[in-house]
Amino acid sequence: MKQLPRKIDFIENEKKWERLWEENGTYAYNWGDDGRPRYSVDTPPPYPSGDFHMGNVLNWTYFDMRARYKRMRGYNVHFPQGWDCHGLPTEVAVEKAYKIRRSDLPPDEFRKLCEEWIEQYIAVMKEAVIRLGCSVDWSLEYRTMEPDYMRKVQRSFLMLYEKDMIYKGEHPINWCPRCETAIADAEVEREARTGKIYTIAFSVEGEDLLIATTRPEYIPACVAIGVHPEDERFNKLIGGEASIPLSGRKVAIIADDAVDPAFGTGTMMICTYGDKADVLAVAKYKLRVIKLIDGKGIMTAAAGEYAGMGVEEAREAILKDLDGTGLLRKTESLEQEVGVCWRCDTHIEVVTTDQWFMRTMSLTDEVVKKAAEIDWYPDWMRYRLIDWAKSLDWDWVLSRQRVFATPIPVWHCVKCGRMRTAEPEELPVDPRVDKMEGKCECGGAEWRGETDVLDTWFDSSLTCAIHAGWPDREDWRNLFPASVHPSGHDIIRTWAYYLMVRHLALFDETAYDSVLINGMVLGTDGRKMSKSLGNFVATPEVFDKYGSDASRLWAATGGSTGTDIPFRWADAEYGWRFMRKLWNACRFASMRLEDYDPSKEVEPGLLDRWILSKLEGVVKESTAEYEPCRFMNAVETARNFIWHVFCDHYLEAAKHRLYSEGDEKAAAQQTLHYAVRRMLQLLAPAIPHLTEEIYSHMYADGDSDSIHLSLWPEADESLIDEEAERRGDLIIAVIRDVRKEKNRMGIPLNKPLDELKIYSADPAEAEMIAMGIEDISATLKAEDLEVLEGDGGEHEVEGYPTVRFSL
Ligand SMILES: [Zn+2]
Ligand SMILES: [Zn+2]
Repeated sequence: MKQLPRKIDFIENEKKWERLWEENGTYAYNWGDDGRPRYSVDTPPPYPSGDFHMGNVLNWTYFDMRARYKRMRGYNVHFPQGWDCHGLPTEVAVEKAYKIRRSDLPPDEFRKLCEEWIEQYIAVMKEAVIRLGCSVDWSLEYRTMEPDYMRKVQRSFLMLYEKDMIYKGEHPINWCPRCETAIADAEVEREARTGKIYTIAFSVEGEDLLIATTRPEYIPACVAIGVHPEDERFNKLIGGEASIPLSGRKVAIIADDAVDPAFGTGTMMICTYGDKADVLAVAKYKLRVIKLIDGKGIMTAAAGEYAGMGVEEAREAILKDLDGTGLLRKTESLEQEVGVCWRCDTHIEVVTTDQWFMRTMSLTDEVVKKAAEIDWYPDWMRYRLIDWAKSLDWDWVLSRQRVFATPIPVWHCVKCGRMRTAEPEELPVDPRVDKMEGKCECGGAEWRGETDVLDTWFDSSLTCAIHAGWPDREDWRNLFPASVHPSGHDIIRTWAYYLMVRHLALFDETAYDSVLINGMVLGTDGRKMSKSLGNFVATPEVFDKYGSDASRLWAATGGSTGTDIPFRWADAEYGWRFMRKLWNACRFASMRLEDYDPSKEVEPGLLDRWILSKLEGVVKESTAEYEPCRFMNAVETARNFIWHVFCDHYLEAAKHRLYSEGDEKAAAQQTLHYAVRRMLQLLAPAIPHLTEEIYSHMYADGDSDSIHLSLWPEADESLIDEEAERRGDLIIAVIRDVRKEKNRMGIPLNKPLDELKIYSADPAEAEMIAMGIEDISATLKAEDLEVLEGDGGEHEVEGYPTVRFSL
């Protein structure tokens, strides 16, 4: 047993242990069989934005606490960390930095610039994850832009293509005109906006037919007019034709029960495609498709004189023409919800283009079933995935018209259009650069490489298998499905969903056995954290002031798992103060334990039995909270006990024995030695650096012994002693209230009391107090202490109506 030094610099201590853990391989996963069950964390590879914000602190604290807890429960924990590199933000940053357009360079050269660019951000993120004290096995680190990772992604593409789970075709998809790419449903966000609704006159046999629309620019793509079959104003028109304003082109008037007679004028313009309702109507009534908008969001020839204009520009031009001809009858404002791009907030268009899709719709029932079977922390989050899966009505569009992404391993025969895929052993390939050799069945020998690339989610939704070692390790099923997939509630519909459909499609199995969900971090005022609201807190500021353990304490105890929590400086400070208290208490213990002889077993005293019984209760309770990831309760249970029961009361009342000699001292030492170790273990998942430092002085068996590899305390039922708790509580209450009174009277705590009389009207109680007479008199320095049966005494003892005292 080494004494703890007087001073500790928490921040320096954190750096020291981060280095030592790495040197000692403390968190190394054992790929062999060492008898321990395995536990795998499907750490989501973040996009390295270069800013590790307080939201990341919350996520990673959760991931790490789960990993640490399971490791101490005796699991061989696989905790990898990767980086999700591909995507538009990097492309845009590189374009800006080098003052180029991505099309100015060949794809492989542009790609190189992106790779170099993203590396600097990875370095920043990695440092932050290390500084937070995450127990990641860094030998497992990966980047999704590495050739080896892309090989696996392309391999999974080929497998799904073989299984007919991937197809290419012309279908309506969401299109971001600014990003100039297809995007998936999951990437479309709903935003409330004040828009305008225009009432426009179509005509039926010379009579006006008024139609209200929010998208007049789509008039050239109108393919039918819908009316409700039971709407008597219009149902006589069904089967007839209407003339489109300006062009005079004729379209059919059809019955459609999806038309709401109460909305607008009660008639609906069906066009290709103003929104998803149009997509449904076109499919249902087998209407023709007019391609109005091209891949760049520009009006095609179908727009007539508006061809070549952007969407907004075409709208203004059409409105002006309608107004000029008297056909624009009314303009009103309308509160509406529109779909916008999650990356750039641009209004999404629905366009029909040739894209690659994964058949996700056919998996919906299976996703719902698996979501219901697996564990969710907290439980109710499962409905986020279930509801999302059920709400989808399109397959997942996989292709993107971008550069920095995993290429689609396919070539097309220039002569006949047949597709040929790469062979698994050729992977990774880039058909934009690599040539396909050989002849096509049609005799053609010229091949065009696919230029579309894969959605970044196609990279990151394969992690459960890749972490496990698929497709290279034969034993990859040892780690598959992942034990836990941790994630934020905002990305259940992307991350949790794509992982699930992907692994179901590939392996017909759930991707993960449980999901741990964290909420968002709000600003110091409870509003969304943002630099413009002035409630933004930068992570390094918190780390530099209080260290990462205190930051973790805030994350662990700031709110229930899954809920949004504000960042509060006071919580971080409270954590820091608790750590000081813990350090001082443990330092005192280490000094009083210097001559402790563990081989000598002695009978514990009453207050020893009291604290041990309570401690075992805390072990049970805290463990029951750690198990389902209720970190706040788990840590608060331990922290409150350590601070307000162990430090405030037990240590004070045991001091006189710890400064004495003989069996009395040995009993207190034995209790202290046992209790401190258990308390440190309960806190180790939350404050790994400080607990390790204390443990290394007081308990470690050699330099590479770590509290994080020690086994989690099992509650010892034989120590649970209700009678001792009852007696101890009374004695402690007496000591507490006499001290309080002494303090109120201005008597220094270390000044002896001339006289102390404790009364109880209850003889059994008086006897209980008398049994603690030595602890009471020594702790309070009241040599002349009398315990009396009966009424009397000036002051009462809180919680004990029959007990009073005078001093
Ligand atoms: Zn966009
Ligand atoms: Zn061919």
